[in-house]
Amino acid sequence: MLAAQDVAGNPSSVHAEGRHARAIIEAAREQVALLVNAKPSEVIFTSGATEANNWVLAASWNAIAFAGIEHDSVTAPIAASSAKRIDLSVATNGVADLDGIREALAASAEASERTLLTLMMANNETGVIQPVAQAAALAREHGVMVHTDAVQAPGRIPVDFAAMDVDTLSVSAHKLGGPRGVGALVLRDGVELPALIKGGGQERRRRGGTENVSGIAGFGAAAAVAANEKDAARRIAKLRDRLENGVKRATPAAVIIGSDAPRLINTAYIAVPGKLAETLIIKLDLEGIAVSAGAACSSGKVGSSHVLKAMNLGPEITGSAVRVSLGPQTQDDDIAAFLAAWEKVAGSAALAA
Ligand code: PLP
Repeated sequence: MLAAQDVAGNPSSVHAEGRHARAIIEAAREQVALLVNAKPSEVIFTSGATEANNWVLAASWNAIAFAGIEHDSVTAPIAASSAKRIDLSVATNGVADLDGIREALAASAEASERTLLTLMMANNETGVIQPVAQAAALAREHGVMVHTDAVQAPGRIPVDFAAMDVDTLSVSAHKLGGPRGVGALVLRDGVELPALIKGGGQERRRRGGTENVSGIAGFGAAAAVAANEKDAARRIAKLRDRLENGVKRATPAAVIIGSDAPRLINTAYIAVPGKLAETLIIKLDLEGIAVSAGAACSSGKVGSSHVLKAMNLGPEITGSAVRVSLGPQTQDDDIAAFLAAWEKVAGSAALAA
């Protein structure tokens, strides 16, 4: 257990407190590296994945290939960039189309552009897992750099930076149960990427600013726990399957988004054509069940999800989709309570009424 005085030193100072803070950072760097199978020298701490994604996209690319399912922290810097956009298509099950990626990369290589391909490991709304290693292999053939936003993956599916053969990868501590406001960019040794935050020699001159020692320590601890979460993941997967099977029994017309694609175990994304997502959310809330529409960051301004639009799903699906999240705390009783509430709100008797 760390005490406040353990992290009080400035890790750039040579006195004992400084050295202690430095040791804490380096231990956390090893823990994060182990989680994603990278070398500690490849892990650079940032304020989160938003910064890590912005950093990669801010480099001077001529062209950026990406699909519309990416997180806002990827799409917003692309929108602000002067690089040419190469839009990649996505199947209705949420998986980016590898043939489309192959063609786009070949065309960009012919134009001898400095191109970045960015493809997330797993989508934050649908949980759908993307073929990052295959896409990276195609990119290698054409001399294209590859970034992956891996925020949703660690602790849920194996993350192997080395085997995926990507150049950069972003992770965030709070998605692992760690503190908010800290994350990392994993940058392959030897790959040049100009610093985004300049003005200090920290992180070997790649990210200026005094390190967030307590945040980094928490990130390391969360990474160490997440690296051993395989059993928890299996348990949650069973609960999610029970939930989805129960929903289908109660509401045969319900659509489980992405169900025929490889998916993370912790989300069920359910649409009931003809029902408004807002209505489902409010009725479930009255039954004591909290679900969201679309991305968590955009709930509150219920609009339709850019991810579902990128999957070319019609308005009857995009307008009615609600997302149920499960986690390590979820128990059998929670699934039973959800299904009882669902039956009341969207079971055949409720839909007929
Ligand atoms: N990328 C994805 C897929 C996310 O789900 C999130 C946040 O939840 C982010 C990036 C942003 O991460 P952070 O909150 O660390 O900036």
